[in-house]
Amino acid sequence: MEKLTLAELEILEKSYLLVRTKRMKTVLKIQAEIFKGIRDYLDSEGFTELLPPIIGPVTDPGIRGAKQATIDFYGREYKVMSSAILYKQMMATSLGKIYFFSPNVRLEPLETAYTGRHLVEFVQVDVEEAHADYYDVMRTAERLLAHTLGYVKDNCSKQLEELGRDLKVYKPPYPRLTYAEALKILAKNGCAIEYGVEIPWEGEELLSKLMPEPFFIIDYPKGSRGFYDMEDPKRPGILRDFDLLYPEGYGEAASGAEREYIYENVVARMRENGDDPTKYGWYLEMLRVGVSPTSGFGIGVERLTRFICSLKTVWEARPYPKVAGVYSP
Ligand code: AMP
Ligand code: MG
Repeated sequence: MEKLTLAELEILEKSYLLVRTKRMKTVLKIQAEIFKGIRDYLDSEGFTELLPPIIGPVTDPGIRGAKQATIDFYGREYKVMSSAILYKQMMATSLGKIYFFSPNVRLEPLETAYTGRHLVEFVQVDVEEAHADYYDVMRTAERLLAHTLGYVKDNCSKQLEELGRDLKVYKPPYPRLTYAEALKILAKNGCAIEYGVEIPWEGEELLSKLMPEPFFIIDYPKGSRGFYDMEDPKRPGILRDFDLLYPEGYGEAASGAEREYIYENVVARMRENGDDPTKYGWYLEMLRVGVSPTSGFGIGVERLTRFICSLKTVWEARPYPKVAGVYSP
């Protein structure tokens, strides 16, 4: 996708007017059906919907170049959730299969204002399953996506037509590339990435243009991801994790993993990642008490809406969007 211009961004300062446009109304109608499609699938599969925590003493440190937002909580520093990932393991231990619609805040770097894919405030649907491995939750993720595409196609044909969107309902299973295979394809297409680092969004976008259907990238190397993605005991240095990507150039849809849940392993991984274990008091205490092995993923609803509606930017996919550095309402 082409980069945005400053003029396009300035529109956001009057985003209260955008909500009244016909196009935005159509998108928001479709988005409401997307929410129903997601709940329809997960509820029918026996997941329990929970309320997400919004603030807490710590939050997800694995947010690429973004900064966390801080509030003063009665004299202590609390974080606004960059993701509620740390809370999911115990909820799944207790209830088996859970999900929540989780509002997240990430102070993304200024240059992301022009990518069309980064919001500062967004919502992800966080899913977690106890006693499931990462292959199990990849199956959940692909079925959830396919069901939601079908649901929207069935219920929003008029609105999709208004947007000129010919939405395909891609049938699972979706192909799985390993991280190493993804790097090879990128190198062949003129985008060399050093083994070991996170694939930048430009690389994801290129892969997403090359692939004819949604697909997974699995088995990221240690160091590119948070301490909570499990290292494969049989393949040291490789994580049991994945991203799900959209086709048609829309890039990342979701990230997920089997979770590291043994206290000693997590502390070791925190040290390797340069995270200070003393900051994660309650989380490590919880692991000492004991949680079940779990796997899960998070799928961003604005990016899903952008894909379904075929929008140029992610900020057309929610009312009152916040983009890095833009002082919008
Ligand atoms: P992550 O933990 O970074 O993998 O985020 C989980 C999911 O949330 C991603 O796969 C995206 O769909 C979505 N997401 C992450 N960051 C942003 C952002 N800045 N703006 C919009 N959606 C995001
Ligand atoms: Mg991700």
